[in-house]
Amino acid sequence: MKEREIVERIRRSGIRTKEDIVNLLALGTPEGMEELRRWAFSIKQKIYGNKVYIRGIIEFSNICQKNCYYCGIRKDNKNTRRYKMPKEEILESVDLAYSIGYRSIVLQSGELENPEFIYFVDEIVREIYKKYGENMCIVLCVGEQEYEVYKLWYKSGARRYLLRIEVSNPELYKKLHPPDHSYERRKRCLEYLKEIGYQVGTGVMIGLPFQTLENLAEDILFFKEIDADMIGMGPYIVHGDTPLGKIADNSEEEKERRFWLSMKMIAITRIVMPDVNIASTTALQALKPMGREIGFTWGANVIMPNLTPKKYRADYQLYEGKPCIDETATDCVRCMDIRAKMVGHEIVYGDPGNPLHFYKRTSKLST
Ligand code: SAH
Ligand code: SF4
Repeated sequence: MKEREIVERIRRSGIRTKEDIVNLLALGTPEGMEELRRWAFSIKQKIYGNKVYIRGIIEFSNICQKNCYYCGIRKDNKNTRRYKMPKEEILESVDLAYSIGYRSIVLQSGELENPEFIYFVDEIVREIYKKYGENMCIVLCVGEQEYEVYKLWYKSGARRYLLRIEVSNPELYKKLHPPDHSYERRKRCLEYLKEIGYQVGTGVMIGLPFQTLENLAEDILFFKEIDADMIGMGPYIVHGDTPLGKIADNSEEEKERRFWLSMKMIAITRIVMPDVNIASTTALQALKPMGREIGFTWGANVIMPNLTPKKYRADYQLYEGKPCIDETATDCVRCMDIRAKMVGHEIVYGDPGNPLHFYKRTSKLST
């Protein structure tokens, strides 16, 4: 059967099984891929049109207690110069974001669970909330924490939380993390976050060593199972100073494969979960200069420009070849508008861009 016909057949019956997803992920001809892209794009257009929601991301610290085998800022990487932005500087970056029309700000860092870190984050959340209230949606992405900590930050004003499951297959998770990292805990954290009332985002890395198409299909089913509001996925990118980076294939062909596999993951996720927010992540841009914009044409509707002050950017290298480390925050804004227009999209300012899925989920709960 021709690939176009495979897509047509699945389109007619709807995606019903893991095998359907694997078949879509396996598409390799331009015709088959284009058919999948158009299917996902039409769903995205119906729900979000050509509007792209925007969130500024501030990478406020690269100090991490964990040792994920793939990540450049893992604790044991002694080649990374560690930093933590002072509170005032973080708040200045938030003010800058507000002044240029951002209404959603992501505070991301390495993971720490000590009281000093917890209260530091809490203070920042409280100050932002005091100043902007619900006019600036505070998004946290600072890893696994206890229920009470998530609750504290929610009460202080945080409204969204991003915690990728990274890989949803527990065996593969074990392979990519040291023995003291727990898949069960990560999953439990996602449950806590939902229970507390956060808009919850999760996601995975795509094209990891040992990862099969079946694993990726399981990831999409996992997103559906936990009923996530937001999905942020990106290609795995090699970092030479990590255990995984030392064994991973870093050839140009492999990078190309990871990029297109990421596009297919975005498309299938859009088809399976039409109303979620899907980010076109920075890692896509690391593989192709227009990578994120291409993502909009495959079903993504969110972009997260980097607002980290320039002097810290080079030290927040989760992976190699991270783009824009020489830009300033305002450079990013202008650049973003132009790039979105190049693929027929428009960035929405002055709007927190909440995921429709969250409203549907929570209104169902309250009836
Ligand atoms: N410490 C927090 C947030 C910062 S890491 C956490 O782990 O949740 C943010 C994301 O970077 C991770 O979720 C992971 O998916 C991604 N990441 C880390 N190393 C990467 C790599 N080598 N290639 C692509 N993405 C990577
Ligand atoms: Fe730390 Fe997050 Fe990197 Fe893991 S992925 S080492 S938790 S920053």
